[in-house]
Amino acid sequence: ESPIAASIPAEGSGQDTSLRPKRMAEMVGQRDVIERLQIAISAAQKRVEPLGHILFDGPPGLGKTTFATVIPSEMGTTVQMANGAGLKAPKDLLPYLTNLSENSVLFIDEIHRVPKAVEEYLYTAMEDFRIDIVLGDGVSARTLNYELRPFTLIGATTRAGMLSAPLRDRFQIREHLGWYTRPELCEIVCRNSVKLDLPVDPDSAEVIAERSRSTPRLANNRLLWVRDYAQSKADGNVSAQICRDALDMIGIDPLGLDKQDRGYLDTLMRVFAGGPAGLEAIAHTMNVSSDTLEDEVEPFLLRSELILRTRRGRMATDKAYRHLKRTA
Ligand code: ATP
Repeated sequence: ESPIAASIPAEGSGQDTSLRPKRMAEMVGQRDVIERLQIAISAAQKRVEPLGHILFDGPPGLGKTTFATVIPSEMGTTVQMANGAGLKAPKDLLPYLTNLSENSVLFIDEIHRVPKAVEEYLYTAMEDFRIDIVLGDGVSARTLNYELRPFTLIGATTRAGMLSAPLRDRFQIREHLGWYTRPELCEIVCRNSVKLDLPVDPDSAEVIAERSRSTPRLANNRLLWVRDYAQSKADGNVSAQICRDALDMIGIDPLGLDKQDRGYLDTLMRVFAGGPAGLEAIAHTMNVSSDTLEDEVEPFLLRSELILRTRRGRMATDKAYRHLKRTA
């Protein structure tokens, strides 16, 4: 295991981490993003300089963390992983900055959650590879200037709009990760079934891909569940019907919606008569946080044209009524 792989936080089950591509060539889809990054990486290597700071945005599970781990592997450098929610005060950022080695990568996930007081330290760190630490206060306060080794900051966010302009502008490369197509998800399922040593025929891969909400992380989770189901309820062999049965059993419908997605639509239709309803009101009724709804539930419902976001609130579409077999 490389030091990079070892520092990746486990997500969900251990298997999902082992399914994460280790090199850019192993990544499926996002061709434009990969092509631009390869150009930037090769230019930085020719100049023997760190790669410019990179910001990734997009819904969860589309590969932001994966990019943050394959980029340093391509560059032959190390990565430190931090989370914006954990950087509450400037002192939380210092160990990461002082541990940087030349041209290494600092990855901050959920960078929109970094508080203003910490964000200001990032400005000089990113721009001049320097931090100014104020020690003491009042008349005895003095500033220590600390030189950092040149590094690359990779930020990831589900909410690019929440980033302040000064922070956003300090990223030389900004990439939006979009949804994956059905053939791309099929390819991810097929490649990972090989890694799991689980024969999966094209029809089965198609069922899993169709029910994965255009998201590689979900394709992996669904595949792992199908494997468990096939091994304990059947003879271990996977077929399209086994995939349907396995996914039906955990409430994943043919559009790929899970119980929470349908709960959202149900609340909107039943409690709010199809809307318009405010996000907070829906979240309170469902007893989940509005952040979860906005980050994890709504993006796919919007994209599938099951809901609309209007100035007056969220509304269920005719397609949503048809999907839940309801009348408006
Ligand atoms: P979050 O912001 O919620 O952490 P993320 O966008 O960082 O999500 P990742 O953790 O990078 O998402 O991706 C989830 C999983 O999906 C990975 O472990 C990997 O197995 C798979 N995956 C993501 N992108 C790709 C890709 N382009 N090709 C193949 N597999 C991928």
